[in-house]
This record gives sequence, C-alpha cells and structure tokens, in this order.
Amino acid sequence: MKIAIYPGSFDPITKGHLDVLETGAEIFDKVIIAVARNSEKHGFLTIEERVDLIRQSCAHLKNVEVDSFNGLTIDYAQQKGATILLRGLRAVSDFEYEMQLSQNNSALNHNIKTVFLITKPKYNFISSSSVREILLNGGDITKFVPEEVKIYLEKKYKC
Ligand code: ADP
Repeated sequence: MKIAIYPGSFDPITKGHLDVLETGAEIFDKVIIAVARNSEKHGFLTIEERVDLIRQSCAHLKNVEVDSFNGLTIDYAQQKGATILLRGLRAVSDFEYEMQLSQNNSALNHNIKTVFLITKPKYNFISSSSVREILLNGGDITKFVPEEVKIYLEKKYKC
C-alpha cells in the first residue's frame, strides 16, 4: 500500500492545495494531509481551524486522512508508514525552495521520496498569503478557496 504525506501550513487551504490533493488521491492508495504544527508561531488560523477546514474541504475524498504533526516531516512520515512526500509546484519561484527541502529530507532518510505535482493553470497563482491579504482587505476570495473555507473565513472576519 503506497501511503503519501502531503505536509504544509495550509493557512488556509486553497483550491490549489485541494487540486494537488485530489490528484495525489488518484495516484496513491492513501494520502495523509498534515498541518505542520511548527507553522503555528506566525499563523493566521489556529492548527485546529486549519485541520477542520481541510476536513470539510476534502470530505469527498475517501482515501484522504487529515492530521497535524510536530517535528520533522520525515519522522512523521515514517511513523505513519508513508514512503512518499507530496508537494505542489506553482512556478519556478517555488522550485529552489522545494528542491532544497526535498534534498534535505532525502539526506535524512533516503527511503522517503518527494513527488511534485503541478496544479491546473487556473490555480497556479493562488497562495494562502494572497487569500489572507484579499480577505483582510475586504476582497472576494471565491475563486481562491473551497466554498466551506470561504463561508468560515467571511463569517469570522465579518466581510
Ligand atoms: P509550506 O509552508 O510548507 O510551503 P503551504 O501550505 O504554503 O506550506 O504549501 C504546501 C504545499 O502546497 C507546498 O508544496 C506548496 O508549494 C504547495 N502549493 C501551495 N499553493 C499551491 C498552488 N496554488 N498550486 C500548487 N501547489 C501549491
């Protein structure tokens, strides 16, 4: 059974993240999307809010599990019996950071491989930081996040 971990901050989950997750769920037997708890320090939403919004957004994906973790991603992956780390690539600007991360992880544990997926072009420009910026300035986030996330964020920030 091929298990993949999709780690990230997901602050909040976007349509780009969801697209990568849906493709990952088609390729692998099981995908665990996991919020890195060390990303809370500079966070916008709490880890619990992020996990809850991911859960609502991927309820249609039966082989996807939602979780959060502390510490190194590769240690968490090993603990879950996963051999794949799933990451998304948007543009060349993501590439350098992602390559370094994947090579660091590979140096720490060469049994765990990173697989990169590219989103549909219509989601290429989306980032969690742009969603936060648009939301806090009263803009429309419909095109950027799943419906459940939009409802929650607009209620919380009273847009
Ligand atoms: P991190 O803080 O670990 O970069 P993010 O939540 O920002 O976490 O992103 C998690 C993963 O999803 C990263 O591999 C990132 O490149 C990817 N990603 C983010 N937005 C998109 C998008 N619109 N399309 C494809 N991949 C994306």
